[in-house]
Amino acid sequence: MQLTRVDDHVHLATGTNVNWALVTEGDSVTLVDAGYPNDAGAVLESLAAIGRRPGSVAAIVLTHAHLDHMGGIPTFTSRYGTPVYTGAEEARHARREYLQQITPGEMLGQCRHPRGVKWVAQTLRAVLPHARMALSEVNTAPFDVALDVPGRLVPVSVPGHTSGHTGYLMPEAGVFFSGDALVTGHPLSTLGEGPQLLPGVFNTDEARMRTSLESLRDVRADTLVPGHGPVARGPLADHLDAALRRGA
Ligand SMILES: [Zn+2]
Repeated sequence: MQLTRVDDHVHLATGTNVNWALVTEGDSVTLVDAGYPNDAGAVLESLAAIGRRPGSVAAIVLTHAHLDHMGGIPTFTSRYGTPVYTGAEEARHARREYLQQITPGEMLGQCRHPRGVKWVAQTLRAVLPHARMALSEVNTAPFDVALDVPGRLVPVSVPGHTSGHTGYLMPEAGVFFSGDALVTGHPLSTLGEGPQLLPGVFNTDEARMRTSLESLRDVRADTLVPGHGPVARGPLADHLDAALRRGA
C-alpha cells in the first residue's frame, strides 16, 4: 500500500494496481472506493496511517461497481454497517442486476503483450475467489447535490466506463475524484503517465465516455484524484483536453 497526501483532508492510497481515497473531516472519514477484496487489509492500513480507525469511516462512496473498486466494502458494511452511496444506475450494477466488465476472453487477450501477462496474473489472483461478489445494500445518491458525508462530496454523472459511473467533486478543496472515467496511468496503458482514458477494452461505451468527459469542462477543480495512476494537479479542463487528445 502506498499513501500520498493530496491536501490537509485528502489522501490517495494505492493497492493492487488500483487507488482509493480517504477524505477526512474531523475524526470522520469518507472512503472513495475500496480496492480489490484482497486490498481490504491495505485499506485498514491506510486508515491507520492517517490516524483513523475502521469505525471512523462514516461513509463509502463508490465510483463504479468493478471488483477493483468495491472489493474492500464488505469489510466495513458487515462489521460497522457503513453506508455506501453511488448513482442510481451504478447502484443497480453494484447489486449485480447486470454486469459490465472485461470478459475472460478479452482478459486473456491481454497476454499478447509482456506487460499484459503480469497484469492478467495479478488480476486473476485478485478476482477469482470473489467473481460473484455483489453489494446488497447500496444507497442511491442524487447527482449534483452534496452528500451529508465527511467532505460534503457531490456525485457527478460520468457514464461510459460503466453505464452508471459516478465521479465525486469536493467543491471546497477543488478536488475531483474521477474513478475510471479519467485516469493518469494503468499497467496496460501504452501512454505512460498523464491524464488519459483507460484502454478501450475496459470501457462499456467509449463514445459515451468521451461525451461525459466533455460535460465535465465546467467542473471547477484543480486536483484530479483518479482510480488508477497518480494525482494530477492543475485545472481539470486541461486534464480533460490532454486525455481526449491522447485517446487511449
Ligand atoms: Zn473499472
